[in-house]
Amino acid sequence: MQPSLHTCPCQINPSAETVNTALSYQDCCQPYHESLTAPDAERLMRSRYSAFVLIKPEYLVKTTVPAQQGLLDVQAIKSWAKETDWAGLEIVEHTPKLGKRHAQVEFKAYFNTKDNAGNLAGKIQAHHELSIFVNVKDKNSDDAHWYFLDPTVAMTVTQKQPCICGSGEKFKRCCGAYI
Ligand code: ZN
Ligand code: ZN
Repeated sequence: MQPSLHTCPCQINPSAETVNTALSYQDCCQPYHESLTAPDAERLMRSRYSAFVLIKPEYLVKTTVPAQQGLLDVQAIKSWAKETDWAGLEIVEHTPKLGKRHAQVEFKAYFNTKDNAGNLAGKIQAHHELSIFVNVKDKNSDDAHWYFLDPTVAMTVTQKQPCICGSGEKFKRCCGAYI
């Protein structure tokens, strides 16, 4: 596929055999980066991938579970996003219901490899990962929003404490079961 300049980064899938009409950034992830909240985990995953490509660390922070946000290394996220030569995204599987309020997205985030001198080596590799998302209810309204649950952030929460997502359940029976 020959993506145009305006193709949304999350619409570029180097392993796709058939070419779907790719959405432009404007019609895809931009509204989420600006103000919309993602209606499901796959949508959130896509907009987070695009935020990596377009180096929007503030969006990556905002869409991580609030209790983890202060523990994120924004500079590290930023440099990693910058140093990676992103090549596309493939959503392998979206499991919208994993227990009461969690969802899972299996994906491959493609990137171009570099040789030791930092030049492009002409090969595409993929981070193949499973990400867990949690749907958190607002304290002040009935709205609920999806957040990324970052397994690399060390939380100082014991298994019996109330969950970091604010669900009111014990951590071990909620997000603790997935991270
Ligand atoms: Zn997109
Ligand atoms: Zn939880």
